[in-house]
Amino acid sequence: MEILNYINGEWVKPDAREYFEVINPATGKIIAKTPLCGRSDVDAAAKAASDAFLAWRRTPVQDRVQYLFKLRDLLKANQDEIGRLITEECGKTFEEAKAEMVRAIENVEIACGMPHLGKGEFVEDIAPGIDELMIRQPVGVCATIAPFNFPGMIPFWYLPYAIAAGNTYIVKPSEKVPATMQFIFKLIEQVGFPKGVVNLVNGAKDAVDGILEHPAIRAITFVGSTNVAKYIYSTAAAHGKRVQAQGGAKNPVIILPDADMEMATKIIADSAFGCAGQRCLAVSLAVTVGESRNQFVEMICDAAASRKVGYGLDDGVQMGPVINSFSKSRVEQLIGVGASEGAAVPVDGRGTIIKGCEGGTFVRPTILLDVQPGSEIWKTEIFGPVLSLVHVNTIDDAIALANSHVYGNQASLFTSSGNAARRFRYEVDAGNIGINIGVAAPMAFFPFSGWKDSFFGDMHGQSMDAVEFFTQKKVVVERWPKEWTRKF
Ligand code: NAD
Repeated sequence: MEILNYINGEWVKPDAREYFEVINPATGKIIAKTPLCGRSDVDAAAKAASDAFLAWRRTPVQDRVQYLFKLRDLLKANQDEIGRLITEECGKTFEEAKAEMVRAIENVEIACGMPHLGKGEFVEDIAPGIDELMIRQPVGVCATIAPFNFPGMIPFWYLPYAIAAGNTYIVKPSEKVPATMQFIFKLIEQVGFPKGVVNLVNGAKDAVDGILEHPAIRAITFVGSTNVAKYIYSTAAAHGKRVQAQGGAKNPVIILPDADMEMATKIIADSAFGCAGQRCLAVSLAVTVGESRNQFVEMICDAAASRKVGYGLDDGVQMGPVINSFSKSRVEQLIGVGASEGAAVPVDGRGTIIKGCEGGTFVRPTILLDVQPGSEIWKTEIFGPVLSLVHVNTIDDAIALANSHVYGNQASLFTSSGNAARRFRYEVDAGNIGINIGVAAPMAFFPFSGWKDSFFGDMHGQSMDAVEFFTQKKVVVERWPKEWTRKF
């Protein structure tokens, strides 16, 4: 498959000298080559988006969202085809891939409410004859830099809100998974947006740096690992841009003795091993409290060992490969670090080979038992199907442990006690909280939160946070003296 850029309403050959090989992680076969674009391609996209901005901004909001209604229908009609592409380049199962698109579509639907969401405020007579109003105006050209693990969904946390609010847009997908966005942009082409309103530029660091430094680009959203998020946040801010950057995670789940253990085990296994653990909301630290330990350890080990691993397009497969051979080696090496730090490995996914998919980069679900808080394996985001277990005696210890981590993307509690749940919700320092939930992914009508080293910025993606991020407020104070108005 040839990967092109989509700039100014045309598919254009990138000005790239180097290419990144895109590999189906289940088979090891090369399926595409991502052009590693640089500044000239970013310049072309930024120019197209700048040129389109004024006319798009002047298009009435109720007309702008008509394009989104059409896009929503096309995404829905092509959900299976998009799902198949996601599985082929990203590795997750077909069901997981289709579920990802459900959330993408939901965001388009919520953004269709922009005529209401983007309304301003008005107060008449703040003093006699003087009115005050706040209007929202678009920011200008905006861009999203996306990670590999949700190739179809993550740009939709932002793009629909941005364009509905009157901005123009550039998407830079992960170089590891360019095909999904390329296909989605074919749908965007069918929608018939005016030229330059939505643009696609492929590449890696050079393209990102081009975006970060481009004077015409006014706002940037990023999702990816924490080190890169910090770089994006500081560099974009230094170039005077509005920026939000979502980073990595290491999400704790606390299991109290009064939890429904069967339900907890199933949900925690789905969270830890779903998408091969390559999900920023995946549970990766399980903290058993008191008597919950014995039952949970046995049940989670069984759940891990019995998970069906294979090619995500095959029936019945519950978990696919990790993204590439680098990731497989890294995950396996980190399991080794855990073992060398004293953790037991009762279920060990190292060295996994799947019959018929010998070229794939699979790691079976892995359990690390008795991980020490503060150890390397406790601290490091593994981003693979590895669940580390820690034991404490009280809920106080468990909450303190959860709060001691540098990340704050998600924290979950399994319990049947309302009091414990209420306390947890209040005291835990994380942006997304699950009570008897393993993946507390907010619906599109809530912001996708994230605290501490999992997020750099103020406003988040989705819903009203996205409306705030992609609009700038203007406050107007007007005097209309009575003697003037009386004339009419
Ligand atoms: P990544 O940071 O390697 O890459 C993300 C994007 O940044 C890609 O588009 C890539 O091309 C670009 N990039 C990579 N290195 C760069 C550099 N040095 N300079 C400039 N740009 C660079 O992340 P990934 O491996 O694609 O995704 C996995 C990570 O994303 C995990 O850490 C995961 O937790 C995180 N993630 C977070 C969320 C969230 O909502 N917090 C959601 C999904 C993924």
